[in-house]
Amino acid sequence: MGQKSAVCESIEPPGSSTSLSSLAKKTFEHPVHEQLSLFTANTSVNPGITASVADKGSDPRVPGKPVNAGTAGFRERFFSAATAVEWNDWMWQMRNRIRSLAELTHFLELSPEEKAVDRSSGISLPMAITPYYLSLFYDRDSCAPLRKSMVPQVFETLYSPAEAQDPLGEEAQSPVEGLVHRYPDRALLLVTTTCSNYCRYCTRSRVVGNSERHALPQIDRWKNALAYIGAHPEIRDVLVSGGDPLLLSDDQLQWLLGNLRKIPHVEMIRIGTKAPMALPQRITPHLVKMLRKYHPLFMSIHATHPDEITPESSEACTRLADAGIPLGSQTVLLAGVNDSAVTMRTLMHKLLTIRVRPYYLYQCDPILGSGHFRTPVHAGIDIINSLRGFTSGYAVPTFVIDAPGGGGKIPVMPEYVLSRENDEVVLRNFNNDRFVYPDEKGRAVACSGTFREGDGI
Ligand code: SF4
Repeated sequence: MGQKSAVCESIEPPGSSTSLSSLAKKTFEHPVHEQLSLFTANTSVNPGITASVADKGSDPRVPGKPVNAGTAGFRERFFSAATAVEWNDWMWQMRNRIRSLAELTHFLELSPEEKAVDRSSGISLPMAITPYYLSLFYDRDSCAPLRKSMVPQVFETLYSPAEAQDPLGEEAQSPVEGLVHRYPDRALLLVTTTCSNYCRYCTRSRVVGNSERHALPQIDRWKNALAYIGAHPEIRDVLVSGGDPLLLSDDQLQWLLGNLRKIPHVEMIRIGTKAPMALPQRITPHLVKMLRKYHPLFMSIHATHPDEITPESSEACTRLADAGIPLGSQTVLLAGVNDSAVTMRTLMHKLLTIRVRPYYLYQCDPILGSGHFRTPVHAGIDIINSLRGFTSGYAVPTFVIDAPGGGGKIPVMPEYVLSRENDEVVLRNFNNDRFVYPDEKGRAVACSGTFREGDGI
């Protein structure tokens, strides 16, 4: 318990408790009533749409800033009043998110399955799409991968008996609010419920975008979680996730990371985020300069489809990699989004070109209303089969099923071992050619002390 006290002593940031509450106010957690905007017209029209065109003359250039051509056209068409500085400011992107279907109709024509959401009930996950992310799919139909992953469809209201609000049993493995302790030496720290964009297949759709669900204020949740980690010396690896932790301010993140680093047994910290893909403007030089103080720090980047790999996301990942942060990807396998071998191979290759190592490919979790996203398990196995041996090993993620009920990630592999018998293992390679490996034969003489000078071999 001594460690717990030490953590509690270090938990107040420099300055008074007032500065702590001001840190809390900087988050983008929005009240629960904003979820309802999914179904109603948002009367406060996006400021980016209505801002005075006269401002355009004062548009400062941002030399050398990479811009995706499609994004540039979108900005010119819908946000021409926004300056380049505004567009490249993540806070501006957050303030100008599209939060309702009614607002979305300014940019695209809704399909029947999207329109039908207005008349349905039962969808609790809010909608939010940054202007940048919308620029990646606004001119595509409702079957387009990124559009399907972000714009709600009426299929979300169809529940099957196998689905659950909390299919991974995180609530049952949460000793304090905002922390999941499932594996012996790791803890999952859920520091916010806010994301820049809400993925329609989100495992935590029961909580994201819903700050009022919490019993305790954010600061108290953080303190309790840090105290828990401090009191559990077996925890050597902390995954900071959410929501998206990179939506916290730099000050808030620094405070969290600094306090985690003060816990002697926390050897490594990981951040799980979609920001480099959905809000690359968030990866500022200031953020990166701060993050690099907390090595060993790893980052798991949620990547969905090759359309996300743009000059903007590439710059964001390069900036992080240049700061020495090892980058891995996490991708959810989604029907009609990325469930083809060609799409997945392209995504993995493109991730490697921006220095992100493919890490996990997840079977979609059976959250409520996820039937239109879930693929049969063999689809994931087939994709791994199509990658292994046919491309660089670095481009092959591990396909996992997060066991319903809280059993953790279980790797699911194509079968390469055909049989084991008579001290031989029969294997197949990627071309389905058969090979025999002598498993036991010859091993006995390898032990030290069994060979004496003069022994014949
Ligand atoms: S970014 Fe992650 S936490 Fe946020 S909605 Fe998407 S899957 Fe959920």
